[in-house]
Amino acid sequence: KYYNLVEEMKGKIRVFCRIRPVSESEGKKGGQVVVSAEDQFTLTHNTQRGVKSFLFDRVFQPYEDQDAVFEDTNALIQSAVDGFNVTIMAYGQTGSGKTYTMLGSEAQPGIAPRAFRRLFHLIDKGRARCDVQVSAYMMELYNDKLIDLLKPVGRVENERLDIKRDKKGSVHVQGATVRTVLSAEELSRAFQDGLTNRHTASTNMNVESSRSHLLIVICLTATSKQTGSVMKGKLTLVDLAGSERVSKSGASAEQLREANSINKSLSALGDVISALSSESSFVPYRNSKLTMLLHDSLGGNAKTLVFVNVSPTAYNSEETLVSLMYASRIK
Ligand code: ADP
Ligand code: MG
Repeated sequence: KYYNLVEEMKGKIRVFCRIRPVSESEGKKGGQVVVSAEDQFTLTHNTQRGVKSFLFDRVFQPYEDQDAVFEDTNALIQSAVDGFNVTIMAYGQTGSGKTYTMLGSEAQPGIAPRAFRRLFHLIDKGRARCDVQVSAYMMELYNDKLIDLLKPVGRVENERLDIKRDKKGSVHVQGATVRTVLSAEELSRAFQDGLTNRHTASTNMNVESSRSHLLIVICLTATSKQTGSVMKGKLTLVDLAGSERVSKSGASAEQLREANSINKSLSALGDVISALSSESSFVPYRNSKLTMLLHDSLGGNAKTLVFVNVSPTAYNSEETLVSLMYASRIK
């Protein structure tokens, strides 16, 4: 097996590409495949308008399943326990497989449920040496507004959430409900509660979940039993809003506002990552709430993994190319 893709990546940003299988509806429309993996690192986009190749830290083929993806991801969970700030996120147009990758389904669990189990497996294994406290908060970022997803039912009025940085540079979200969890099951339950709240809130506001960013932040405080020293790590999982462009014709004012807000935050994210990759002295974290939230989890001592999810077929080839260009900008 080739070198471990995520173990030795302090301060680095890895970009993985995942090609999803041709869907049933694409299959019916002909479903001509325009994206293929040359090898584990090279993806080729091939249309009448040209052939372009893109390099990634890893390319996952349509047949590679959730197990294969987690195999190349799970070392990051250990890093979070070891005191690093770890971020795993998925970028791509709506329908490209972001939620499948990050959350998955009951039958095909994705990164989040697997990470929860792995996290507590590692904590249990180290119990003799180390006590680890785990807490989580979960938010949705919609139209530049932060919504607390773990707020107890009944507290109708959403407190204003404020993004703060402490003296050490750690990000805290003031006003967010923080849930302490003692097991993988409790963490999964908190996450499910958050998803349910998100669903209710978005139905009430008539918003598609693909139009907001979803973030869960898992905070780890490890206390050594021998020395009493304390180490803090963090694992942030992000299912980003769909990156697709919205055509000006036929879109409502509200849809344009959404699209504009998503576009701004994804560009800001791209700007931060490319500034970090090019070791630029100025990193523009403050241009969006998304990058402010991720300030301590991108660059510095953090480990960041971005999945760029793409559809394989001609029908989506324009948006796929936009996603691949974004990926090459952040590499
Ligand atoms: P997104 O979150 O980017 O909008 P989804 O994750 O909802 O996209 O994926 C769109 C559809 O494709 C879903 O029905 C999902 O189950 C399916 N899908 C996505 N990726 C895969 C994959 N790697 N294997 C099988 N089905 C997938
Ligand atoms: Mg989704």
